[in-house]
Amino acid sequence: MTAQAVETEDLATVIGLEVHVQLETETKIFCGCSTDPSDEPNTNTCPVCLGLPGALPVVNEAAVEAAVKVGKAVDATIPEETTFHRKNYYYPDLPKNFQITQYDDPICQDGELAFPVGGERRSVDIRRAHLEEDPGSLQHVGGGIDTADYTLVDYNRAGTPLMEVVTEPDFRSPGEVRAFLAKLTEVLEYLGVFDAGRDGSLRVDANLSIVDMSDVAADEIDASVLEDADPNRTEVKNISSHRGAEKALTYEETRQRNAIKRGRAVEQETRHWDESKGVTLSMRSKEEEKDYRYFREADLPPLRVADWKERLEIPELPDARRERFREEYGLSAEAASKLTSTKEVADFFEDVASEFDADLAATWVADELLGELNYRDMQITDVADRFDEIERLVELVANDEITAKNARETVLRGMLDDRDAPDEIVEREGLGKTSGDAVRDAVEAAIDENPDAVSDYHDGEDGAINFLVGQVMQKTGGSADPGDVNRRLREELAR
Ligand code: ADP
Ligand code: ZN
Ligand code: MG
Repeated sequence: MTAQAVETEDLATVIGLEVHVQLETETKIFCGCSTDPSDEPNTNTCPVCLGLPGALPVVNEAAVEAAVKVGKAVDATIPEETTFHRKNYYYPDLPKNFQITQYDDPICQDGELAFPVGGERRSVDIRRAHLEEDPGSLQHVGGGIDTADYTLVDYNRAGTPLMEVVTEPDFRSPGEVRAFLAKLTEVLEYLGVFDAGRDGSLRVDANLSIVDMSDVAADEIDASVLEDADPNRTEVKNISSHRGAEKALTYEETRQRNAIKRGRAVEQETRHWDESKGVTLSMRSKEEEKDYRYFREADLPPLRVADWKERLEIPELPDARRERFREEYGLSAEAASKLTSTKEVADFFEDVASEFDADLAATWVADELLGELNYRDMQITDVADRFDEIERLVELVANDEITAKNARETVLRGMLDDRDAPDEIVEREGLGKTSGDAVRDAVEAAIDENPDAVSDYHDGEDGAINFLVGQVMQKTGGSADPGDVNRRLREELAR
């Protein structure tokens, strides 16, 4: 790229991602150690994941299955046979001094993923997605990566299955990146291969360059345009959230554009995203592929996955399910979207909708339940063991045994805050809709006790009825139906 000042309107932002996602498996990818991140540091280790001489890796079938499912979900080609390679580099979190990864025939090739952004639909090409082992984790004590007093290493993470998803440089803004990551996460969670709540389960390396577009329109940027322009790019590391990706790339975009505007060259380098300071910092000049001395992992034979793609089934994916919910249950776009936000929510909704009216099910799952959970910073998975109780609550409303207001404000909240069962709360709080005799008694008592209001009513002061309704509601502890009370009062007063 020429180091000459350029008009800003001719510049286009080009971004490509390398997304590392931890696959959720019980055990590590090449040994039987647990992947539980909550265990004490350096307790889930063995000769294989510590890289002791002579230890031999064995592939975890569950990790391969997860990778094949991801491949199916992004419409990737899955080869007949896939192989593993060693990527050589030296780093304290990498006990073997090489990482087992994949090189020229990764398990997923040429996929794509569509996602909504700013009211539009975009799609980016996924060049490849390969399996590899996570390194251990470093904990810098007393400062950041550059200022710490010392650094601790934990090999529990070493060997956790990772999938690295590499996109083509198809993104044109940091906002698109964020939207893509949200969709990717959604799909991975639907597949049941990923836990977004796990710390560090998603890490992004983001490549960004600024391309001079004086001769081509921004939507015409393709591989050959990029090859001709051959812009210097930076790779930003240490991004661990969707929002972090957007922020880091916005910073990097501005930094590079400013440099170019002032006629300065952008260095080709690796930069570190400092989340707390909100800046990217130069780390080192970017490694090149030849630095890694890739060679075949001779301890792992080629893996035939030809028939796995046929054998393994994946669930209906969120977009398809959203569409089906709109058609099958007549839901609004917003409701369908909320109800398919995670597979657990969608499954539960369909469960409730199979027993009760779909509108009632949608209201109770999308609005009431998700609203109350959100307010408490809880997830649907936190109440998975209480689905029966929540269905019972919906049943109480459906059967008109309690008012919707009481169901929401007293029963549901009580269930979530105190873990009580719905019937228990209804009983204890006397919320059962008072019907028949009890309401009749309360109506008669209200009339007897309030002769002034009664005569006001007879004198044509219709507002007096509201006072009497209030009296009856008070006597029945708010559990009578106000409309019903109003009707009964008028009937009684007309006698
Ligand atoms: P390298 O071999 O230098 O790692 P790759 O071609 O393998 O480069 O691409 C690595 C990542 O960089 C991919 O995610 C790709 O989309 C992205 N990338 C490639 N060219 C550009 C560019 N000009 N601007 C931004 N990202 C790019
Ligand atoms: Zn191990
Ligand atoms: Mg590369």
